[in-house]
Amino acid sequence: MPVNADADNGVEEASRAENGLPVNEVFYSLQGEGKLAGTPTVFVRTSGCNLRCWFCDSYHTSWEPTHAWMTLDEILAEVTDHDADHVVLTGGEPLMHEASIELLDRLGEAGYHTTVETNGTIYRDAHVDLASISPKLASSTPTESKDPRGEGEWAEKHEANRIDMDDLAALVDAYESQLKFVVTGRDDMEEIEDLVERVRSATTSAIADSDILLMPEGTTRDQLDRSRNDVAELAMEYGYRYTPRLHVDLWNDAPGT
Ligand code: SF4
Repeated sequence: MPVNADADNGVEEASRAENGLPVNEVFYSLQGEGKLAGTPTVFVRTSGCNLRCWFCDSYHTSWEPTHAWMTLDEILAEVTDHDADHVVLTGGEPLMHEASIELLDRLGEAGYHTTVETNGTIYRDAHVDLASISPKLASSTPTESKDPRGEGEWAEKHEANRIDMDDLAALVDAYESQLKFVVTGRDDMEEIEDLVERVRSATTSAIADSDILLMPEGTTRDQLDRSRNDVAELAMEYGYRYTPRLHVDLWNDAPGT
């Protein structure tokens, strides 16, 4: 699949290692989601995404991307300023960028545990200790009524590109992984069950139910107050793992958390 960035993806040019990466923010926090929730972590958030979920919790990497170009040396220097063993490369969609490979490899060589948070549509061969894959469901599609800009211009493209089973299976087979689904309600479960079955058929790796995570949709405490208990009940009913959004519980929607 094409991995060069273009205007549609929210960055002006493809990133190569010598050019660095379009970086929205680098910050130190606790991992809020998934199997490593609660772990002190440095986050490197790249800008640009090949999808446009209506509920995107990093709006300024997708719908209205902002970033500074940072060299890999500059990024590594910021990472080492913090007392953490774990680094998360997130976005946007960080695997859009070719330079992410060298960044991950250099972080691995330096002894960091690396997590990549990806929507699962792009496979890259790099040093990845945990692939945190969040396949996007039909309920993520920015239809005209849900589009934050009210235009609906991305609906068709998002729908066409949100699942790439070849790249998704390649990520699962190459790396320790978790599949993390943003759940908007019970109606999502049929698609999750179908998708899990398709991924299991497409991979040679065993995917335990405990590596399938249900995460409530919501980027503020008020929103999570309305959704978290329903999603917790669904996790118990289906035998999957519930994941909190710990950073929201702790800091609500404060930037840099
Ligand atoms: S895939 Fe992730 S970064 Fe991209 S639009 Fe969806 S939620 Fe935002």
